[in-house]
Amino acid sequence: MAKKDYYEVLGVEKNADTSEIKKKYRKIAMKYHPDKNPDDKKAEEKFKEAAEAYEVLSDQDKRAKYDRFGHAGVNGHGGGGFSGGMTMEDIFSQFGDIFGDGGSPFESFFGGGRTSSRRSQGQRGSNIRIKVALTLDEIANGVTKKIKVKKQVKCNTCHGSGAKDSNSVSTCSTCRGQGYVRQVKSTFLGQMQTTVACPSCHGSGKTITAKCGTCHGEGRQRGDETLEIPIPAGAEDGMQLSMRGKGNAGMNGGPSGDLLINIEEKKHEFLQREGMNIIYDLYLNFADAALGTSVEVPVIGGKVKVKVPEGTQSGKIFRLKGKGLPAIQSYGRGDQLIHVNIWTPKKLNDKERKILEELRAMPNFKPQPGKTDKGFFDRMKDYFG
Ligand SMILES: [Zn+2]
Ligand SMILES: [Zn+2]
Repeated sequence: MAKKDYYEVLGVEKNADTSEIKKKYRKIAMKYHPDKNPDDKKAEEKFKEAAEAYEVLSDQDKRAKYDRFGHAGVNGHGGGGFSGGMTMEDIFSQFGDIFGDGGSPFESFFGGGRTSSRRSQGQRGSNIRIKVALTLDEIANGVTKKIKVKKQVKCNTCHGSGAKDSNSVSTCSTCRGQGYVRQVKSTFLGQMQTTVACPSCHGSGKTITAKCGTCHGEGRQRGDETLEIPIPAGAEDGMQLSMRGKGNAGMNGGPSGDLLINIEEKKHEFLQREGMNIIYDLYLNFADAALGTSVEVPVIGGKVKVKVPEGTQSGKIFRLKGKGLPAIQSYGRGDQLIHVNIWTPKKLNDKERKILEELRAMPNFKPQPGKTDKGFFDRMKDYFG
C-alpha cells in the first residue's frame, strides 16, 4: 500500500509551522487514541500514521529530507540507516513533548494489559552525535566508515544489571516486582487510571542489595566501540543519518541511545559540487580556444581527456554526461559541467605585445556574436533551469 503524504495525514499545508503541526497532531492523537477506541484496528492505524507523520514533520532535519526525497528520505531504506517505522513505545515517548512533561495522560495504554512491551528497564542512554567528513569520491560511490566511538558501554562485570552478583538482586517491594504502579489521574480526557514506572526500582522490578564494584550500580562504564557506518552514495553536506541503539548505553540495563551522524563534505581541490552535478572551471589560453586542443580534466575518481573544438568561446559549458553524483535513495546521476574560461595574459613581453598588436587589427579578431553564442543567463538556464 502506498504511503500517504504526511501533510495530508495531519491535514496541514506544506508551509505549516511547527506549532500548527503540533496542534493538528494533538487533535488526531486524542481522537484516535487506543484508550478511546478499544479494539478498533482502524483507529489504531490512524493513530500510528499520524504519529509517524508528526515524527517527521516536527523535526526540521527530517522534514527537509521528506520534502526533498519523499518517504524514501526518512524511512528505513537499505544501508542508509534512516529511522524506520515507529513502535507504540516510540509514539508514547513522543507524547512527553506534545502534552507537556513526562506525565503523559496516555500511559495507561501500557498498563492496561493491551501490551506488555513497556516494562521500562532503567533509563535510556543519551544520543551521541559525531561528524563524518567525506571526499567527493566517497560521496559518489557510497562508503562504509569504520569509526571508533567513545561512549558509555554496558558494564562488562555485571552485564548491565548493576548488581554485584545474582544473589544481590531481590524483588522490589514497592511494586512487587511489576516495575510499575497504578495511579488515578485527572486529565483533559477525564479520570484515567494511569500506570507509571515504579519510583523505587525505576521500572526494573528489582532492588539491588549489593552494587557491582566496577560500575557502582550504574550498569554501564566508559569504553568505546568500533562501528561500521554505512553511508549511502549521494550523501550531502549537512545531512544527518542515525543508527538506532548505537549511542550511550542506558543506566541499569536501560536501552541505548542513538548514534547521530552528521555528514560533512571535504572540499575537492578542483571540483565543485552543485546538487548532483559537478562543476569544473577550465582555463584556456585564447590560442588554444581559437585553434582547438585536447585537455585533461579531473573528474571524480580520475581524469578524462576532453577535446576542445576550434573557435570555443569563453563561458562555453561542456557536459560530461553521467560523471556527476548519484541521486540519494533513487535513480539517476548528475553530470560534470566543464565551464570554459579564456585566460587573458596579465602581463606581456615585447614579442608577445608585437604579435598581439598585429592581430588586434585582423578582421577575425573583431567580436561578432551570432545567435548561437549564448550569453551567461541563457547558459545557466540551459543547465539549471
Ligand atoms: Zn519497584
Ligand atoms: Zn557493573
